[in-house]
Amino acid sequence: MQTRCPYCALQCAMTLTPAGAGAVVEAGDGGLCRKGWTSAALLDSPRRLTHPWVRDGRHGRLREATWDEALDRVADGFRRAQDSGGYDAVGVFGGGGLTNEKAYLLGKFARVALRSSSIDYNGRFCMSSATAGALRAFGLDRGMPFPLVDLDDAGCILLVGSNLAETMPPVMQRLVRQRENGGTLIVVDPRRTPTADAATLHLQVQPGTDLALANGLLFLAIELGHVDEAYIAARTTGWGDVRRAVSASWPAQVERATGVSEPDLRRAVQLLAAADRAMVLTARGAEQHAHGVDTVSAFVNLALALGLPGRPGAGWGCLTGQGNGQGGREHGQRADQLPGYRRLDDPAARAHVAAVWGIDPDDLPAPGRSAYELLEALGSGGGPRALLLMGSNPVVSAPRAAHVQSRLASLDLLVVADVVLSETAAMADVVLPVAQWAEEDGTTTDLQGRVLLRRRALDPPPGVRTDLHVLAGLAQRLGCTATFPVEPREVFDELRLASSGGPADYAGISYDRLAAGEALHWPCPLESSPGTPRLFLERFATPDGRARFVAVSQPPSAEPVDEDFPLLLTTGRVAAHYQSGAQTRRIDELSGDAPAAFVELHPFLAERLDVADGERVRVSTRRGEAFVRTRVSSDIRPDTVFVPFHWAGRQRANLLTSDALDPTSKMPAFKVCAARIDRLEEALR
Ligand code: SF4
Repeated sequence: MQTRCPYCALQCAMTLTPAGAGAVVEAGDGGLCRKGWTSAALLDSPRRLTHPWVRDGRHGRLREATWDEALDRVADGFRRAQDSGGYDAVGVFGGGGLTNEKAYLLGKFARVALRSSSIDYNGRFCMSSATAGALRAFGLDRGMPFPLVDLDDAGCILLVGSNLAETMPPVMQRLVRQRENGGTLIVVDPRRTPTADAATLHLQVQPGTDLALANGLLFLAIELGHVDEAYIAARTTGWGDVRRAVSASWPAQVERATGVSEPDLRRAVQLLAAADRAMVLTARGAEQHAHGVDTVSAFVNLALALGLPGRPGAGWGCLTGQGNGQGGREHGQRADQLPGYRRLDDPAARAHVAAVWGIDPDDLPAPGRSAYELLEALGSGGGPRALLLMGSNPVVSAPRAAHVQSRLASLDLLVVADVVLSETAAMADVVLPVAQWAEEDGTTTDLQGRVLLRRRALDPPPGVRTDLHVLAGLAQRLGCTATFPVEPREVFDELRLASSGGPADYAGISYDRLAAGEALHWPCPLESSPGTPRLFLERFATPDGRARFVAVSQPPSAEPVDEDFPLLLTTGRVAAHYQSGAQTRRIDELSGDAPAAFVELHPFLAERLDVADGERVRVSTRRGEAFVRTRVSSDIRPDTVFVPFHWAGRQRANLLTSDALDPTSKMPAFKVCAARIDRLEEALR
């Protein structure tokens, strides 16, 4: 059976053939990375959950339970919480890996069955700054407004804060083709990653200063006469303010702020300007900051000044990371959102969706708290007393993780639906074992806005139910009379109606069209529509059809280094693992390749700290400490250390990360904070 990889937003095609209790994977045309190749190992793993668990008493042990007992316990707990605390006393936390159907039904469950405003999801930690930046520039957020195939012929690609060679290796084939076609590649990253190694030019920026870099590149584009004045006049607004805002971004000043030399700044601008079709692509390295939205705006400004967005084969895009990071942010998991990328505070949107759901628009709750704000308010924090968590593992993946863990522990009822006993599931009062990617049909929307059908290839083990069944079972126990279908196709057909006429319009996309192999990018309003692979060719999605420049400037660091914490800590990924590692750490081949977290540091720094390669050290910040081994490498800046975030326990990078939030997107500042490293005997003194 042809299906799709369960992990990242590339959603590579694969063929899965049942074999014994598991399945054999064959790659589709685009190839697979090693996560994809090994993904079937978790289907028949002894580590997966195959029956519900409930905890007796708040501090008792988890014990096996029937589905009826587990769901009754959840429904009773939700009712009790709402009887004493009102509708918002029950929260819902979703995930960017959930299919469109699950994301849609989870949002409906929160607003209709629970009538709660307390819903958000882990994509807030991933895509929210790019989303907000795209909305304010273009009036619409589709990560890549052009298809991936356009990368092959791009004359120059400026790739900011992405290590594609390790996170989405098959995309590197496109970058190789792009180079063979005469294109150039500029990579902005504090580390010389395998992606940076493949670049024409690597700008080894200091973490957190990408905005200053973008403004500096724009200053030079103006100075060197590369601005496309005709495009700016015809297709944009706000240029005058931006031109003034970057007038102080002198190369020498930008070099001091970012660590990128003036000759490299000039070369980057010349490479971009020399290209017939250029692209600016941002990712988490630029976006996961307390000023992530403004950083996105700075790179969009650069792209607009060069006349790129809305031109075939060129433009600005963001590289979505999570498996359904695009669709998962469109259909109602967000605190402020209704399906089809409609706004929850828009009366017309409320009326449309309420009609599809058969409820009074006045019964829909108002927008709620963003992901970190919701987690922080849990339990004794004054927010929800009970929480349903689906497709997320915040004990590992949330910033300031020990604090989040304490908030989860203070709940009256924590319910986790998952495939394995993740670190968060291990804290739960009720654990619900759910089906995996290859055991159920569903759609995802990949990083280019193309909707894909992921097919069921084999049956789930006995004792396991789908997330859709869980939501339907709970809605029924809560006395909700609205429909909660359990067939993915039925849910998708309802989603099509709910999204119809909205910004992310799926009305014309059907399971039959997808099964027939049609390549459909939203918006696709009619069954006769071919979809929209390239957005903005004629006009942008703003009221006047023009893209908006937004004047931005580099703010002071949210957490400057000082004597106690003299280093810059940045976090990220390794090739063998996906997100919190809940799945990939349980696959022997992957955990054998990458068994533990580490701290990467430059030889100069290692010498100054007198630590050896492979030595166990304490990394600490103002929020906590983690214990990991060193990896000494000249690939990183001497003022910066890097810890990957896929591991649990005392190796958790997110014990260290900052919960400073972007004021617009509420994105936490995962990508930079002040840190120190101590040798263990000194740390333990
Ligand atoms: Fe493809 Fe991403 Fe899966 Fe790797 S993890 S096989 S790049 S979808």
